Amino acid sequence: MKDFLDELDQEIDWIQNNDDIVDQHIILNEWMDWTTENIEAEQKQLHKNVKTFSNNQNNSNNPNKQNKPKQESNEIRGKFISKFPETKFYLPSLREGYTRFIPIWGNNETWAKNMWMAQYWDDIILMDCGVQFADADMLGVNYSIPDVSFLVNYKKNIKGFLITHAHLDHIGSLKHVYPALWCPTLYGTKFTIWLIKKQLEEAWLLSYATLVEVDAWKKEKIKIGQFEVEFFKVNHSVPDCAWLYIESPGGTKIVHTWDFKIDFTPAIDTPADLDRISEIGSRWISVLMSDSTGSTRKWFSMSEKNVWEELEKIVSNHHKGRLIIATFSSWISRVQQLIDIAEKYDKTIFLSGRSMVENVAIAKELGYINIKPGVVKKMTPKNTEWILPHKQIIITTWSQWEQFSALARMSEWKHNSVEIIKWDTVVFSSSVVPGNEKSVVWIINKLIKLWANVVTKDDWEVHTWWHAFQEEQKIMINLVKPKYFMPIFWDLYFRTVHKNTAMSLWIKEDNVLMLENGNIVDFAPKNGNVFKSKIKAPIQELIIDGHWMWLATSHVIKAREKMMNSGVLVIMFKVDKKTKAILWHIKLESRGLVYLEEVRFIHRMIIKKARDIYENTVKDVPDMEEKDLVKILRDDLEKFLLQKIDREPMIIPMLTEV
Ligand SMILES: [Zn+2]
Repeated sequence: MKDFLDELDQEIDWIQNNDDIVDQHIILNEWMDWTTENIEAEQKQLHKNVKTFSNNQNNSNNPNKQNKPKQESNEIRGKFISKFPETKFYLPSLREGYTRFIPIWGNNETWAKNMWMAQYWDDIILMDCGVQFADADMLGVNYSIPDVSFLVNYKKNIKGFLITHAHLDHIGSLKHVYPALWCPTLYGTKFTIWLIKKQLEEAWLLSYATLVEVDAWKKEKIKIGQFEVEFFKVNHSVPDCAWLYIESPGGTKIVHTWDFKIDFTPAIDTPADLDRISEIGSRWISVLMSDSTGSTRKWFSMSEKNVWEELEKIVSNHHKGRLIIATFSSWISRVQQLIDIAEKYDKTIFLSGRSMVENVAIAKELGYINIKPGVVKKMTPKNTEWILPHKQIIITTWSQWEQFSALARMSEWKHNSVEIIKWDTVVFSSSVVPGNEKSVVWIINKLIKLWANVVTKDDWEVHTWWHAFQEEQKIMINLVKPKYFMPIFWDLYFRTVHKNTAMSLWIKEDNVLMLENGNIVDFAPKNGNVFKSKIKAPIQELIIDGHWMWLATSHVIKAREKMMNSGVLVIMFKVDKKTKAILWHIKLESRGLVYLEEVRFIHRMIIKKARDIYENTVKDVPDMEEKDLVKILRDDLEKFLLQKIDREPMIIPMLTEV
């Protein structure tokens, strides 16, 4: 509490010492001027780069053929702020032949901004770079990103950035992190690279990027710095997902599953490459890092084929009103299932939501989705009016983190083409992320009030989980046969259940590594022992508020929290410059602090107390500086209100000398 007020004081001091707050506006405006003046030139450069990118695609498996950006000579400037806090932290020295791993983010929390690093000698490779959407308790914040502050000190050592798949919790922070680390070469499968390309293009960063497409079906080793890396095929919920095999010259061999499931009958995908996993497992793997997300679920996760059959039953039995299917925009296989079913039953598909339309367009362009002419139509009022309601299937984005997703807008009649009415059926073809149950029930309530039918996975099997259940996790451990096992992702609870599953096989407890974000583990050469450093990399919570990056511990966030809990109280004194006497009535404004019935009584009580504090303080120390006087007023009033009414509002005393 005191810390944040001190920070607030420091900010006020800063503003006073810098003449006035106008200075801040000048800084802001300079930045704005830069954007408007340069936007045209930047766009021209962007188009130039798009051309270069597509021309280079055929050669893209060879990183040497890519044009390396001239990073050292230019400060990289995109649309988003990517200046990370400065830190004096340096990694402990790495012994000869040892290989280091650090989870930068993703090992302590749910649906987080996943990111890992590996180091051998001076070479560093990074893996994934996700975003975390703000919870309700992150007041006003847009999202948070991985903290790579300490990595900025090592940007010259970063040899490559490996990206496993195109979910936002694995690629969503690149627009901030990538330029801060001088844009190292990005490696990923085709679909992943194209979604990254879209993100970097929107952030005006594509011209600095070097993107390398990797085919996870090809058994090829990619040399990145001193590491050898292989991508291999996995099932998940977005096309072209990959696992990673990483080998260092020290003989440390790592398999990192990232997000995975094993599906023998996936929708548009091919089954996971178990032959290859088995072959990799014969190489004496040092450590398996494996996805714990589904660790509490018994048996196998359901196949996409079952969902297909359930969706077909719903579509074939639907004869009244529109069918609105809500799913994640990256779930391309679900879109393909619905397109095929629509074609079979003579229905028309409309796509709703910008990300849905864009992702399907990319998937079509790259050949991941097959759309027969006439099945999908553009969502315009004219088209939707012309086709009978029961012949329409609207596939819409449904993100449980975003209140502005297309489905949320439809449920509030704020969507520009679709208003949900009686007889419409809304199918939630996505599962509820733990912790988001309330927001899902909230939207279902709204749909019921509009007399829509609502179908969830509790009614029909309209969705499958996209992470491995216990039996799939066991298959993975048995095929890879690692010396050490590291359960990763999600809270300690899920990782501990995964640890128990591993120990129910043949993994010994001493060989299970439980890591938190920032833990540093060094693997000795040739499958030797593993050492966990007592030193932890300093990983902070970094938030994006507007276009700007801040620490989540910022006094701004704490002030918002305080105002949300108990409101705000502004108290204004007009005083004589020489005598310091109060010249007129003390004025008071409060918001969110007092209820109507008590306002008169409490306001009077505060004014009386404020007058006493001021007069007693001035009497004791007549030449007290204004900022010290304000601090005393704030602290004493805070104690007084806590004692009298048990509330702790944000108190802002203001003195005007005349
Ligand atoms: Zn994923």
